[in-house]
Amino acid sequence: GHTGDIILEARGLTMEFKGFVAVKEVNLQVRRGTIHALIGPNGAGKSTVFNLLTKFLTPTRGQILYKGRDITAMKPADVALLGMVRSFQISAVFPHLSVLENVRVALQRPRGTSFHFWKSEETLRDLRGRALELIEAVNLTPWADHLAAELPYGRKRALEIATTLALDPEVMLLDEPLAGMGHEDIEGTAALIKRVSADRTILMVEHNLSVVAHLSDTITVLRRGEILAEGPYEAVSRNPQVMEAYMGT
Ligand code: ADP
Ligand code: MG
Repeated sequence: GHTGDIILEARGLTMEFKGFVAVKEVNLQVRRGTIHALIGPNGAGKSTVFNLLTKFLTPTRGQILYKGRDITAMKPADVALLGMVRSFQISAVFPHLSVLENVRVALQRPRGTSFHFWKSEETLRDLRGRALELIEAVNLTPWADHLAAELPYGRKRALEIATTLALDPEVMLLDEPLAGMGHEDIEGTAALIKRVSADRTILMVEHNLSVVAHLSDTITVLRRGEILAEGPYEAVSRNPQVMEAYMGT
């Protein structure tokens, strides 16, 4: 597919929890090669939409299409095999392995499976080289031999991104990648998201609006389970209904 094609789509996505409609008739189109942000006040339904798209929840109604294929009935691991991977989903960070070992383990794991095979010496050297490249890409080189447990919070999120990247996803879903970070980590992680977006599609839920403004090609604003506005930051931020939604909570 080409940049700008629709890679992920929700049609009439609806989720009811015991009669409470948390997500209502959401139609969402994510274009290949873009950074797409999902924002909205607390309780708007962002996490629910995210969980529906990654199939951690099954919608009450509606359809999800990935690369034109209906994935509504698929399991999360099978969706991951197709190339849509949520940070955390498969690539858990092992605290008692080093940063390098964590990335190597992730590289040895084909997308969406948990099988391990013994590798030849040559393959292991190659894996080490690729792991070091990924570690460099997320600015973790000085931490390569540290245990994951020793990493400061923001570096841990960078390692999660590296282990997710090791699976070579086409679509990466990031759930509040900047949550709980201090200033320096926010800047570094935003730059990292921008870099990795060069050859992938990113869908993220994020509360930090200045970073969302800076990074996103498209922003979808949810309120009470429905799409309130959509478009580039300049348009969305001037929308009076969006302003009201943010002021009103
Ligand atoms: P956001 O992530 O935008 O803050 P959520 O998607 O977490 O919002 O929640 C949207 C609404 O759905 C909220 O009113 C929340 O209380 C409700 N909700 C979410 N998950 C459940 C659940 N498992 N059971 C019942 N209600 C839920
Ligand atoms: Mg949430």
